[in-house]
Amino acid sequence: MKTIGMLGGMSWESTATYYRVLNEGIKSALGGFHSARIAMVSVDFNEIEKLQHAGDWEQMAQLLAAAAKSVEAAGADFLLICTNTMHKVSPQIEQAISIPLLHIADATAEQLVRDRIKCVGLLGTQFTMEEDFYKRRLTEKFAIEVVIPDAEDRKLVHEVIYTELCMGKIEDGSRSSYVNIIDKLKQQGAEAVILGCTEIALLVQQAHTPVPLYDTTEIHAQQAIRFALAD
Ligand code: GLU
Repeated sequence: MKTIGMLGGMSWESTATYYRVLNEGIKSALGGFHSARIAMVSVDFNEIEKLQHAGDWEQMAQLLAAAAKSVEAAGADFLLICTNTMHKVSPQIEQAISIPLLHIADATAEQLVRDRIKCVGLLGTQFTMEEDFYKRRLTEKFAIEVVIPDAEDRKLVHEVIYTELCMGKIEDGSRSSYVNIIDKLKQQGAEAVILGCTEIALLVQQAHTPVPLYDTTEIHAQQAIRFALAD
């Protein structure tokens, strides 16, 4: 079994999900007392959140590249960046290490391609929904069309992530708003919706909507399990 490298803490609420899913997956594959081999650096999200909203991506790239090197030095065989948004600086992180990076958008897109989804809705932070680093990867590398909510809904989705989900607050009213926005994405042509923020599945699950949901945390973690167990 390979050692899974994790860059976590963004936020720890979703890193906890990764940790649980990885351990459950390895245990169910190997049985007995087996658990995942993991090397993790968990950052202080307060520092990251301040830099994000100040737009200092260069500083974040340096900080996360240094953290990724520590994960590699701790014995990781490959790396997961446990957040969609911070994949904005994945090229700089990848450059700093010599182990492979399992990109969260690639893992998700591969699943969409397997399921023959051609047009998908995207929910995430405003960085993920509005900027190109994530959407362009889906469009150019996998030929998947991406639709996003309108400006007002993007603001709501973003604010719920930072003021509630990353703080461990799960509110019924926000779930209704998200389900409504998911419906609108379907009306815009989306055959499915990517939960493109690692905390969203804490709020909305498949039971809440008939629209097929692609939970990036679960998909990313499942790919890591397969990778860790492959020869
Ligand atoms: N975990 C979130 C994501 O997947 C948002 C927090 C962050 O900005 O890293 O994008």
